[in-house]
Amino acid sequence: EPIAETIERLGAVVPDYPKPGVVFRDLTPVFADGPAFRGVVDALLAEYEGRFDYVAGVEARGFLLAAAAAYAADKGVITIRKPGKLPRRVFSESYSMEYSENTLEVHQDDIPAGSRVLIMDDVLATGGTLSATARLIEKAGGTVAGFGVVLELKDLGGRAALEGYPVHALLGY
Ligand code: IMP
Repeated sequence: EPIAETIERLGAVVPDYPKPGVVFRDLTPVFADGPAFRGVVDALLAEYEGRFDYVAGVEARGFLLAAAAAYAADKGVITIRKPGKLPRRVFSESYSMEYSENTLEVHQDDIPAGSRVLIMDDVLATGGTLSATARLIEKAGGTVAGFGVVLELKDLGGRAALEGYPVHALLGY
C-alpha cells in the first residue's frame, strides 16, 4: 500500500477540535502502527537522502519524526521548543498560528555553522510554525535543507509561506 493511502486509512478526522469550526487531523494512530510509522519516517528520509547533516523536530509531535529519522540516518537531532524549556541561551521567534499566538526557541549553539538542517513536523497548515523554525535555524547559523511533513492542509497556504524552500508532504488534503 502506498504511504499516502496508509496515512489516509489510519489518520483520524476530529471535527470542532480544538475549537468549533476547525477540523483537526490526528495522526497518533499512524504513529501507533509500527509499519506505518516506519514507512512515514523512511519516506520522509528518502526525499532528502544525502542532503542534510541534522534533523530538527518541532515540539512535540515533530520530535517523534525527527528523532526516528535522525537515528535511522545516523545524524543528530535538534530540538525546536516552546518557550522556557531550553536551559541555555536561545534564539526566539514568534508567529500567529491557525488558532493561537506562539513562540519557538532553539539553543544558540546547538547547530554548527553551515550545517544543513532537515526540519520535520506532523502537519503543515498555515506554515507559521515551520517558517518560524526556518528563521531559528538560520539565526543559529544553519541552512535549511528542507521540510518534511506527514500531512499538508493545502487550503491554508503553508507552501506559499515556505516559498524558496523544498517542502515534502506525504499526503495533502
Ligand atoms: P501552522 O503553523 O499553521 O502551519 O500549523 C502547524 C502546526 O500546528 C504543527 O505543529 C501542527 O502540529 C499543528 N496543527 C495544525 N493543524 C493541525 C491538525 O489538523 N492536526 C494536527 N496538528 C495540527
